[in-house]
Parts: sequence; structure tokens; C-alpha cells
Amino acid sequence: MALLIKNGKVWAENELRDLSILINEEGIITGLLDAQIDMSELDCEVMDAAGSWIFPGGIDIHAHIQDGAETFCSGTRAAARGGITTVLDMPPFKTTTNRKQCLTRREWAERECVTDFGLTGGIVIDREDLFQMNEVAEFGVGQFKVFMLSDPPVDLLWEAVKTAAHTGMRLTVHMEEPALLGKVNWDDPLGFPKANPPVAENVATAKMLEMARAAGAPIHVCHVSSARTAELIDIYKAWGTDVSAETTPHYLLLNEEEFFVQGDRVVATPALRTKTDNELLWQALRDGVIDVVISDHFLGALPDPEKPRPAPQDAEPGIAGLELSLPLLFSKGVKSGEISMKRFVEVTSTAPAKLLGMDARKGRIATGADADLVILDPLKTWRVKDFGSDSRVSTLPYEGWELQGYVDATLVRGRRIWNGKEIIADCGWGEYIPAKRSH
Ligand SMILES: [Zn+2]
Repeated sequence: MALLIKNGKVWAENELRDLSILINEEGIITGLLDAQIDMSELDCEVMDAAGSWIFPGGIDIHAHIQDGAETFCSGTRAAARGGITTVLDMPPFKTTTNRKQCLTRREWAERECVTDFGLTGGIVIDREDLFQMNEVAEFGVGQFKVFMLSDPPVDLLWEAVKTAAHTGMRLTVHMEEPALLGKVNWDDPLGFPKANPPVAENVATAKMLEMARAAGAPIHVCHVSSARTAELIDIYKAWGTDVSAETTPHYLLLNEEEFFVQGDRVVATPALRTKTDNELLWQALRDGVIDVVISDHFLGALPDPEKPRPAPQDAEPGIAGLELSLPLLFSKGVKSGEISMKRFVEVTSTAPAKLLGMDARKGRIATGADADLVILDPLKTWRVKDFGSDSRVSTLPYEGWELQGYVDATLVRGRRIWNGKEIIADCGWGEYIPAKRSH
């Protein structure tokens, strides 16, 4: 049955407007109608969104969904709670390097995901991982990943850059130079950031951007943590290099002071930096130097209440933030005046849709687009706490924070999958969204 969402303020054409959204049985937006028009004659289900802001669903292009202790089903349920409607799965090493592997991963995700999804190629750690990248591109994969912490030699990095140039797939890179990392002294609260210094990220970024410039390749800088990395990206953008960049809520909101309070809960690679980096990354986000905010969701292990927390050196680095990245960015970004609502929608939805070639269907509220929607109460304040079965909050450094703006509903292709209290769609509702490349 068709659906009419009325009485909400709808983000359309770069402003909040009083509109009703009409959605057909296929989950496609068929009309944005003046709120004053009488629609009582219309034969459709009606959803009242009075008091809510409605904006396009979040697209997280860097989330480890089926990896570690996380699964396609539980991971996308956590995403749905936080207003994310499409995820780009970041695979383990060598998981999606040819057509057959991509098909296996896609079919697995189709059985389990509650949100829509796309695939990332890779992760490339050997030369042979690049041999069938043409097939991966043909499969509709818009990006493939190189992980510099696996210490790939320079000639492999150059092959990867050239592969990006000739397939049109964006090369997404974890930028850290392994030779510049030290050994962590776990007895020092700041041992982790000291052993994982910003220069490792800066040097890796300079090297990769110079290669991308030379080859004319599209490249993407993963999880920017350091202000100097943002400066380098800005320089290469000005030179016309096709570089895009992402950061995460934890690099915007947390810094190394947290190691004294939270200990291993904030161990992630790259490491948290300084308060100055936080401020300059907000600036880079405002200025368009950083294009996208992602979670880099990674859940190494589920906490076991029966057992003590593992020692920091035994825990896998990573922060599992899917369910909170949009609420954090809304509350601490939009409500705190760091970024505009326009920028919020761009960095969470419109820009990632464009980068991944999904913008014909995703990333905006407009006639003909998929009805992927977040219905948010902008005034409701709430305290971050564990939500239960699919919640990742107990592993997160934000427990107890007070946020303004609560996701009352998440819709994927017109179907409500989260109602503010529970997930109400079965795992398997999610569809594969192939990327459309320019060449
Ligand atoms: Zn990652």
C-alpha cells in the first residue's frame, strides 16, 4: 500500500520545508506535496510526523559489518537504530577480490541485512588481489581498499593506484606508514597515541596522494585523524586531484585525554589526537576538505559480563559506532553550531551517495528517489545507554552522554524498519545497491 508521511519538516532542496511525502508500493518517493493540500481522499496508509525533522537516511561507506563479532544482521540492526539506511561493508582481507567472491558476499548480505548495502573490494594486501579487479568493478563495486598497516610494498601501492585509474573504482586507503609506528608501552596511559603518531598518517597520505595525482586515479583517505592530513588533502584538491576524505565522530569529539578516563575503550587506529586536531577537523568538515562522516564501526568482541575486560594489548583496536554516528553528529555538530544542517545532510548522505555512484536512488529526498528516511525529534534529549540486544553502546566511549535529537523512525525503501523502540523489519529486507561509475 502507498504511504503518506505528513506534518513533518522535510529536508528538500537544501532547506527544511513543510511538505508531505508520498511513497508508492515499491518504496519510491512519488510526490513532495504542499502540506496544505487536502489528501483525505487518498487511498494510502498515513504516518503522522508532527514535530519531526525528516532527512535522507545515512550512508555509511566505511563500516566493518560482517567481521569480528559483528554480523550482517546484528550490524545493520544497530545501523537502523541510528538512522543509517545504507552501509558499505568493509570486508576482511582478500574477501572480495573477484566476481565469485563478490557474489558469495552479496548473497550472504542479502539473506541477513535489514538496511540496504553495497560492497567494498579487497582488502588488497597482495599483488594477486588486484588481478581480477575488473570483475569486481563490473559487479557494481564502487571502491576497493588497501590497508597500509599490512605493510604493502611501494610497487603494490602503485599497481593499486593504477588499477583505480583504469577501473574507475575509488581506491580507499587506511593511511599509516608502518615503519613510523612504535611499540606501545601499555603502562603509560598515553602509550598508544605515542606509539601511533600523526606523522605516520601524514607521510602515508602524502605518498598515496602523489601517486594518485600522477596516475589520475580517484582516491579516498580513510578516517582522517590529524589536522595535517586534512591540510595535505586540501592542497591536492586544489591541484585538481580526485581525492575525497572521511572522518569519524571519535576523531571530531574525542582526543588523547580520553585515554586517562576510558583506557582501552578508545584504542583505535589511527590513534586519537589532540583538542586542536578536533577543532581543525571540524573546520575541514565545514570547508568541504573532508567530504564524509563514517563510523569505521568495528566490533572485535562482544563484552562478556561473566569475564573481566581483556587487557588493552589483547583487545583488537576499533570503535563500534554505527548506532550513534548520526545522533552524535546531529547533537554535537548541528545543535552545537559546529556545522549547518545542510552540511550535516551532505556529509552523512548526499556526498557518500555521489562518491559511490548511488545518487540516482540515494542521498536526497526527491521524486523518483528511494524513500530512505530518518524521522528525528530535534528537541528530544536523551542519555546514551545500552539499548539491549543489538546495541553496541556498552562498548562505546559515549555511554552516559546527553544528546539532543532522537531517531523516532528509520525507513528503507518506504518501509519502517525502526520505530524508535525496536527493529520491526526482518533481517533480509536489505537490497544490494550497485555503484554506477562514470567510466
Ligand atoms: Zn576500518
